[in-house]
Amino acid sequence: MTSARPDKRLPHSLSDLSMAVHAGNAVDPGTRALRVPLVMANSYELPDDPSSISWSATAPGLYTRNTGVNQAALEAKLAALEGGEAAVALATGVAALHAVFFTHVRVGDHVVVSDVTYEATWRLWTELLPQRYGIEATFVDVTDLDALRAAMRPETRLVCVEAIANPTTKVADIAAIARIAHEWEAIVMVDSTFTPPPFYRPIADGADLVVHSLTKYINGHGDAMGGAVIGRHELVERIKADAMVDVGGVISPFNASQIHRGSVTLPLRLRQAFASAATLAEFLEADPRVEYVAYPGLTTHPQHELARRQFGGRGFGGMIAFAVVGGPDAQNRFVSHLRLITSAFSLGHDDSLIVHVAADGPRVATYPEEFRTHGHLRLSVGIEDADDLRADLAAALDATFGSGNRAGVGAAVGAGAGATATV
Ligand SMILES: *Cc1c(COP(=O)(O)O)cnc(C)c1O
Repeated sequence: MTSARPDKRLPHSLSDLSMAVHAGNAVDPGTRALRVPLVMANSYELPDDPSSISWSATAPGLYTRNTGVNQAALEAKLAALEGGEAAVALATGVAALHAVFFTHVRVGDHVVVSDVTYEATWRLWTELLPQRYGIEATFVDVTDLDALRAAMRPETRLVCVEAIANPTTKVADIAAIARIAHEWEAIVMVDSTFTPPPFYRPIADGADLVVHSLTKYINGHGDAMGGAVIGRHELVERIKADAMVDVGGVISPFNASQIHRGSVTLPLRLRQAFASAATLAEFLEADPRVEYVAYPGLTTHPQHELARRQFGGRGFGGMIAFAVVGGPDAQNRFVSHLRLITSAFSLGHDDSLIVHVAADGPRVATYPEEFRTHGHLRLSVGIEDADDLRADLAAALDATFGSGNRAGVGAAVGAGAGATATV
């Protein structure tokens, strides 16, 4: 078959920018095209001599649920970018999370999960997997390493964290967590959706499996869904065999191709978005009409020092959680006045997105006090010019609280006190 493999002629050590361009891409031997062609076929001609191909369930050249050309090229690139031995690309980020849980946790096992975690991870471990399979999950504050140690048991199979957690931006110390988990022979899965490579590589800090929603930063253009798991060959192959081939959440060739292309500019986009996020977080924190700002780059963030150390000064991510004074009504009004920043789910796109997350529901119980009292806005900073984004935020603050009315904040705070009673 004419699938493009990562080019063996590439120099051994490539810088991040070069790797994002070249990894997983090679001249297509069938057509001499410079890009991996989009192969939408769902099946491949089998050879006359059956001994000439691999019949392994995850071999290429059989059937697209077992591995497609564009999927394989994307996987080669993701493994290279994360510094992992192997990768599997799946239909969505949630499919990737489920694939890890389905493959590597079984009845009788116990898992430890961060108490601030993506919505689907939360529901999978509070309801779906415990109720259906009786697998017990303990939720812990992973910034409290003693609490983590206390939660570990001989049957703990998996520790599941996010390097920067969605949505509160809590930062987990991956190296310390991995050391503890490995004492108990548990595997460490890091959902690194907020912290893609080259910004952060959890495998270098001891993570066994890294999960991404490719839908977010790695595609980066808001036009394809995908998910991935990266890690040691033996762990990833089992996911492919069990959760891809026989459960079927395979990525479409088209989406794999889109994401492969989007990822070419990943380091450039992160550099721009993360620098703007730092500027905007400082701008918001300095404005008295803003109730609180959670961003790991601010010295007021509880894990600021850890973030500085763990992310090696490369930045602090592109996600900001904050609230304007005045409670949920004011948050909604503020969002309605934004012009450049769009109110929408998802994150890590080229365009900036904001979503108002209400302060209710059981998941919120473990959030910091200010999140529970005021709700919050989750801002995903895009690659627009930082000055334009700051102007949009400033204009929306003025429109919400009255132009130039910084002195009028007292009244707004008063309104907020009334509004929070209903949260
Ligand atoms: C969005 C997201 C997911 C799920 O990804 P989908 O591609 O939407 O299925 C998982 N984890 C985190 C942290 C996310 O932000």
